[in-house]
Amino acid sequence: MRTTAHCSGCNAEIFWAITATNGKRIPIDAKPDPKGRIRIEEKGPGDCVAHVEKEVGATLFAEGDRFTSHFATCPDAAKFRQPKKPTVAGRMKVRASMTVRTKGESKT
Ligand SMILES: [Zn+2]
Repeated sequence: MRTTAHCSGCNAEIFWAITATNGKRIPIDAKPDPKGRIRIEEKGPGDCVAHVEKEVGATLFAEGDRFTSHFATCPDAAKFRQPKKPTVAGRMKVRASMTVRTKGESKT
């Protein structure tokens, strides 16, 4: 049985899982998604391991529901996400600051 919670950003129903690859805690949409790339291995109550399909291969869990990381679907993901790698939002921020700089240069 999974312990569900609600996203602090958009209030969607989620549950927490630990990624099999690096042990990070990630929010998963509580509702299964047929197009999701995450398989959940339930080790015990509230103890879920998330296997990302592209990393483990599609054959590991042929059966069972697929899920999507709530990071991918949450409209407020930026609020609680702490990216270490450059993200789309990060690139957009860089682009925005470049635009500002370009505008400033054209004025002078
Ligand atoms: Zn959310």
